[in-house]
Amino acid sequence: MSKYVIIGGSAGGIGAVEAIREVDPVGTLTVISEETVPQYSRPMISEYVSREATLESMKYRGDQFWKNNNVQALTGRAATKIDFTKKQVDLEGGDKISYEKLLIATGGKPFVPRMEGGEKDGVFTFTELSSAEGIEAKLEHSKSAVVIGGGLIGVSAAEALVKRGIKVTLVELKDNILNLILDKTASEIAEKVLTEAGVTVITGQTVQRILGKKDDEDTVGGVVMTDGKEIPCDLVVVAIGVIPRTELVKETDIKLNRGIVVDRFMRTNILDVYACGDVAEAHDFLIDGNRLLPLWPLAHLGGQVAGYNMAGKKAEYEGGTVMSSLKYFDLPVIAVGDVNPADISDYEVLVELKPEKTVYKKILLKDGSIVGFIFLGDIERAGILFRLLKNHVDVSEIKDSLLSEEFGIVTLPEQLRQEMFVVN
Ligand SMILES: Cc1cc2nc3c(=O)[nH]c(=O)nc-3n(C[C@H](O)[C@H](O)[C@H](O)COP(=O)(O)OP(=O)(O)OC[C@H]3O[C@@H](n4cnc5c(N)ncnc54)[C@H](O)[C@@H]3O)c2cc1C
Repeated sequence: MSKYVIIGGSAGGIGAVEAIREVDPVGTLTVISEETVPQYSRPMISEYVSREATLESMKYRGDQFWKNNNVQALTGRAATKIDFTKKQVDLEGGDKISYEKLLIATGGKPFVPRMEGGEKDGVFTFTELSSAEGIEAKLEHSKSAVVIGGGLIGVSAAEALVKRGIKVTLVELKDNILNLILDKTASEIAEKVLTEAGVTVITGQTVQRILGKKDDEDTVGGVVMTDGKEIPCDLVVVAIGVIPRTELVKETDIKLNRGIVVDRFMRTNILDVYACGDVAEAHDFLIDGNRLLPLWPLAHLGGQVAGYNMAGKKAEYEGGTVMSSLKYFDLPVIAVGDVNPADISDYEVLVELKPEKTVYKKILLKDGSIVGFIFLGDIERAGILFRLLKNHVDVSEIKDSLLSEEFGIVTLPEQLRQEMFVVN
């Protein structure tokens, strides 16, 4: 029996451990993690492959983290079943652990469609340290790669591989890369930056099947595109998307939409069972409802809130919203909220485009408040806009200044500045 059991030891699990220990230094606490090193920063996988980071510099918490927090860490072990009636988790190998409070922080897993040749040696995903290590082991003997999927993960994989001297082709089914987080203009700028860095970008198509090498059918030798064209390559990275890892709760009474539905205290509908991070559908302050928001800081924060509540200290999750902050080949990009609404007629759109400086800014307003923005090339002052968006501030009076060079905290109306930005 362990008072607290956490499945998953990454951002969410770590946030929960720290919160529990703040409130309850002695209650028995077990973390079950399939990964042998769970406490690394997943967003840094790209830097690991590009060799800009080592495993040591990727570590989000030190090797002594579990010991220092008096955690029974079952790393390299998988939970296989949860019995909510018996309050018990089954582990691979037959062990069982009973709990008083349980946190499900199992994160997401890469979506890999069935594809002819998908089982060949040289096909990888890009969401775990083990896949990065697999790619690393192949790179010495590889010259070219095809990355399937032009979203955040695919683009970061392409960047890492190009930086290692690999000839990369990035394939995106839709007409624009990064189409879930950027609009067409921003995505075209990002595509130009990628192309200039040496990545071949193919849009409007995907990979139909993966071919073997002429002398070794079981090893990747190329791909066939939907138009029938063949592209030779030594590696294929599948980066089509990430889906919540809900398999443990599929046949249970837990309330499940696309992810596990939680309230503002990170509680599921099952007594004493909490969820957080990429597996959970939690509060989004922009839509004032729940949705999947697979972001590292939100997973940590959700874990923290769950941990406090599990240990008896009431804490409420303030929520997050869609937000991407990235830097591809030195191009900084921040995209927040609703940037691509299907019907633009209800929105007011403010735009600044300076192609010669690779600068693009777009702000979307609805009923006087900022509901989304993209800053690309120059991301200064994005933080102020984020605060205005988060607090649903009516910016009608100052909207003409939002994109001006002078805009800043000091140019905000006195009352707003006092309310939102002055720390007493
Ligand atoms: C390449 C890449 C780049 C990213 N870049 C960014 C970024 O720039 N900014 C950002 O905010 N976010 C980014 N993310 C997303 C971010 O990494 C996730 O939001 C975050 O890791 C979610 O944390 P989590 O704790 O919910 O789950 P995860 O980090 O997915 O961890 C879940 C853990 O649970 C384990 N687990 C699952 N099932 C079981 C089981 N049955 N038994 C035992 N263990 C289990 C898994 O092995 C894993 O270790 C990126 C993700 C990737 C893959």
